[in-house]
Order: sequence, then C-alpha cells, then structure tokens
Amino acid sequence: MSEIQDAIAASTGFELIFLGCGTSTGVPMIGCDCEVCESADPRNHRTRPSVVVRTPRGNILFDTSPEMRLQLLRERPGPIHAIVYTHSHADHLFGLDDSRLFARALGGVPVPVYCEAEVEALIRTVFSYAFVDETKRFPSGGVPRLRFETIEPNSTFSVLDYEFVPLRLHHGRFEVLGFRMGDLAYCTDVNKIPDISAAKLENLDVLILDALRFEKHPTHFSLDDALAAIEKLKPRRAILTHLSHSFDFRKVSEMLPPNVQLAWDGLRVTWNGIPTRLVTDLIDSDSDTSNAENHPSALA
Ligand SMILES: [Zn+2]
Ligand SMILES: [Zn+2]
Ligand SMILES: [Zn+2]
Repeated sequence: MSEIQDAIAASTGFELIFLGCGTSTGVPMIGCDCEVCESADPRNHRTRPSVVVRTPRGNILFDTSPEMRLQLLRERPGPIHAIVYTHSHADHLFGLDDSRLFARALGGVPVPVYCEAEVEALIRTVFSYAFVDETKRFPSGGVPRLRFETIEPNSTFSVLDYEFVPLRLHHGRFEVLGFRMGDLAYCTDVNKIPDISAAKLENLDVLILDALRFEKHPTHFSLDDALAAIEKLKPRRAILTHLSHSFDFRKVSEMLPPNVQLAWDGLRVTWNGIPTRLVTDLIDSDSDTSNAENHPSALA
C-alpha cells in the first residue's frame, strides 16, 4: 500500500482488501501451461474471489472462498465479525469450514451470516454437519457456528451498524447480489445489471466489477462488457475482478482507460467509508450484536 493510501486509510478507518480476484478455477489453472499460468508476476496469481472490508467497528468478509484460510493468513485483517454472501457458487463458499475459528475470536458467539434464503438453505445442506445436535455440543472451534440473517435485493441492511445496499445482479441463469457500501460497490459474478440496480450504482467513487476474459461468456462480463458498464455508470474509479488466465496483468493494464485497473490478490482500496444507520433506526430495532441466544436461527 502506498503512503498516500496509508494516510487515507488512517483517516477514514475503512479499507477493502482483495483476498482473491481470480475466477472459479484460480490462476494458475491446474493443467495449463499458458504464459499467464506460468508467469512469475505475483499479480498473475489469483485465488478465488473474496474481499474483506475493514471498518473501525470490525471486519466484514464477503464470501468464503476455497482459499479463505490462506487468504486471511496472508492479509491478517484481524477477527472476522460477519460474513456476507454474494451467492452460493463453490468458488465463493467452500472455505466456510475454516470459519469455525471466527466464533472463538468473538467469544463463542455465533458469527452473523448475511445472505439470501436460498444461500442459507444450500449452506445448511452442504455444511449439514455444522447444524446437527451432535456437533452443537462440540467446543468452540469444532464446527462453524453461524447465525443467519436473511437479506433481499434493495432492502438496506446493517452490519456493525453500517448500511449496506444489496442489489440484484444477473449471473447467467443465476441471481446474485452486489453490494453498495457508501460510495463503493462490489459487483462480482455478473453478466447483466438490471436497470433498478444500475440506478443505485450511480455516483460511485469505486466500482468493483466482474470481467472474466476477452471473449463473451454466458454468466460473466467480458472485458468489453465491463468497460461498457463502467462507461454507463461512470464511477470515479473501477477495479476489475473474477479474472481468468486470459489476462496478463501488465499487458492488460496497459490497455485499460486511466480510471480502470485490474485487481490483484492483496490490493487494498480506501474510500470515504460506509454510512451508519440513522439514530431513529437504532432506537426502533434490536442491535445486530444482540445475544445470539435470542435469535431463533441460532438454535436451528
Ligand atoms: Zn464466481
Ligand atoms: Zn493458463
Ligand atoms: Zn458464480
């Protein structure tokens, strides 16, 4: 991180770290000997997609990639206070088992997980061992301890009292969520942005957007698709993620407009931060950090 970015992060206390910016296979790809997969440039080594948002009140993890453990050990953001899911594809989910140590860092309280209902259902199926009576008796750290909070597109929700706006994105035949947090938005795994979501992605400082490869793809933006969306939405800066082995970091970087860049694993982004909930909201509703025993899904 540059000294200027250090200074901005110190002043706002908000920072987004790219844990992984690679597509579902990761880069290098198993069995591929192309120039990018064989490259020594660390910016061509891409783990599966995930970011962590650091705030003055704690750390919020977006997705749990298969390399989550290694990503968090690499970046050492500190304890994870909440997980937010974009969707349930394997490249965004399968590191979840390693979250079993998150609850320990929170004093044994289940980790809040913000996701759509079908993502919760899939997690309860794939990680079923974490939700049976036998493992509930395990000491903290044995299995993931999770407390689900259902979120829906366009219904603002709060994590650590910060406001997040979930936006519907189309990902081929799948529907996923992107998130606006203040003047920054994280929109991975998308091949079409519905108008209602595009309207909420205006006036951004930073737009993080899917760009898989040069050619068209049925479930992801190509580079041209992403650049067209950036042209339309006009963020001040755009960062491309979910990158495949089609992109050599140095070569593609030279082709991009000045306000657009490729992500790399470990890239840190600072911005003005995330608004907090209005005081009236705080009076009207329970805190997100309320005792998990009072939350029905913590017992399910
Ligand atoms: Zn993906
Ligand atoms: Zn390759
Ligand atoms: Zn996906």
